[in-house]
Amino acid sequence: MRYSILSIVLLFCVNSIAQISPPKVYEQNKTLSYSELISEYKKIADASPKAQLFEYGKTDIGKPLHLFVISDYREFDPKVLRKDNMRIVLINNGIHPGEPAGMEASLQLAAQLLSKDNEIGKILKNTVVCIIPAYNIGGMLNRSAFNRANQNGPEECGFRGNARNRDLNRDYMICETENAQTFTEIFHKWKPDVFLETHTTDGSDHQYTISLITTAHQDLPPSMSAYLDKEMRPALFKKMEEKSSFKMVPYVHVWRTPPDDGFQQTFEPPMMSTGYTSLFNVFSFMTENHIFKPFEDRVNSCIDFMHCLLEYTHDNADKIKEIREAATNELKEQNDFVLKWKIDSSKYEMINFQGYEATYPPSKLTGEPLLYYDRNKLFTKDVKYFNHFNSTLTKKAPEYFIIPQAWKEVISRLKRNDVKMDKLKEDISLEVDMYYIDNYKTFETPYNGHYRHYDISTSTKTMKVNFYKGDYVVPVKGKEKYYIMYALEPEADESFFAWNLFDEILQSREYFSPFVFEEKAVAMLDTIPGLKDKLMEAIAKDASMAKSAYKQMLFIYQNSPYFEVTFKRYPVGRIYNKMELPID
Ligand SMILES: [Zn+2]
Repeated sequence: MRYSILSIVLLFCVNSIAQISPPKVYEQNKTLSYSELISEYKKIADASPKAQLFEYGKTDIGKPLHLFVISDYREFDPKVLRKDNMRIVLINNGIHPGEPAGMEASLQLAAQLLSKDNEIGKILKNTVVCIIPAYNIGGMLNRSAFNRANQNGPEECGFRGNARNRDLNRDYMICETENAQTFTEIFHKWKPDVFLETHTTDGSDHQYTISLITTAHQDLPPSMSAYLDKEMRPALFKKMEEKSSFKMVPYVHVWRTPPDDGFQQTFEPPMMSTGYTSLFNVFSFMTENHIFKPFEDRVNSCIDFMHCLLEYTHDNADKIKEIREAATNELKEQNDFVLKWKIDSSKYEMINFQGYEATYPPSKLTGEPLLYYDRNKLFTKDVKYFNHFNSTLTKKAPEYFIIPQAWKEVISRLKRNDVKMDKLKEDISLEVDMYYIDNYKTFETPYNGHYRHYDISTSTKTMKVNFYKGDYVVPVKGKEKYYIMYALEPEADESFFAWNLFDEILQSREYFSPFVFEEKAVAMLDTIPGLKDKLMEAIAKDASMAKSAYKQMLFIYQNSPYFEVTFKRYPVGRIYNKMELPID
């Protein structure tokens, strides 16, 4: 008898978790610690067969990255789920642990989704929800009351940098932290249809508790771009208006100026989550809760948006699938890829914006006017929202990139991102297009651990180059096409060249000794056609050369067969026509 009562109790626990309510510490202006958060997810996973808490590879702090998955059918193999026509939504939290609204919101969402009493659970019929509870674990453990100078609670929170002080929301493309490497594994394994990352922002003051970054639609293939811009984005804003007591606005992208005269859409490069995930045709969003609003309101507004996003995904599951498939086909046919964008200041839509009046009282420090917002003076007025971008760099995709195996850091990143590659099975001399780096600048201060290059320009030479057995042939096709172009076209702001993965080519390895080279240099002026004229032109442009034998010899050296052909030659070859290559 006792046994059967126990069975009934257990059965009740298995089928319903109505009695499990994660603590709402945010109502007391607090946020859970890392161990508390994971322990709450464990409790939910233990209580419901519809949820599992997975451990993936490590993060920089040495602890594993968790993924909490809710699947109504109790199926947790993403391949099977996709085959069963389930949509997959991935929510990433705590990338900046000083911005914990999303972490608290996702925990409540998880319990709500599994609760019999909550209507939101209906979305699980065709949608699987994957939640990364805390992405930047190192930053979350670095907890203090002083990590966010302006934030209106919680009392203590984590830190923006991770265990090696990287900003993980600048690490998606270069993928150097173990956090990013593990995220990449999760991302390509689960292949979400919809992605959300949660943040909190400052930069301006206004009446909104929550703002939304929708990934720049122009970066997407045409059908997905149109759907996101004309249907999905407006529908999400409308849904929030109808269902939530919190107002939502597109992310107010201003800094030290008020948004009264309008503001522009954020264009998220692939170093950032939504810029990266949208390269793979994922509908990508970022919530930015507003830093000055009460923490409890930030969490609740974030929960409201999550409901809207999940309901929209559920209600439009077939359409989302259809549009993404169409986009993948369009991407396969696409030949030209935009790698740099600039805002178009002539195109905008109007937003009925609810702000605070900007005032400029004298600074207490300098006496000079300083921007303040008067929260007692509310206004509602139409402002311009600039959300159209024009291309400033477009590149044609080759049929193949060929990467010498020596560039291991490049190859490992492509592999992590599911890029299909073949290996040459024999040594071969191929006629390929090679870039020479003509100009570039390097930032004087490090950015996320790198002295990055910018303002990069190149010229192309078609030449015979030796490649060797084991070098990699990268066919530029499939849904990874855009990612490959961003990574391997050196002029792109986010290219692996810009991120310093090819810096060795920027230094010459050989040189000459002037005291023995002069004789040979003078002789080459007579034997190399046109060299003498070229030297005269150079001297005419740079007077200091006239009296410097060394400078003249250097010029002759650099224009002679002795000068290394590989100096500033980007080592990745390009082939623009389909051809048979000796591959394994
Ligand atoms: Zn953030």
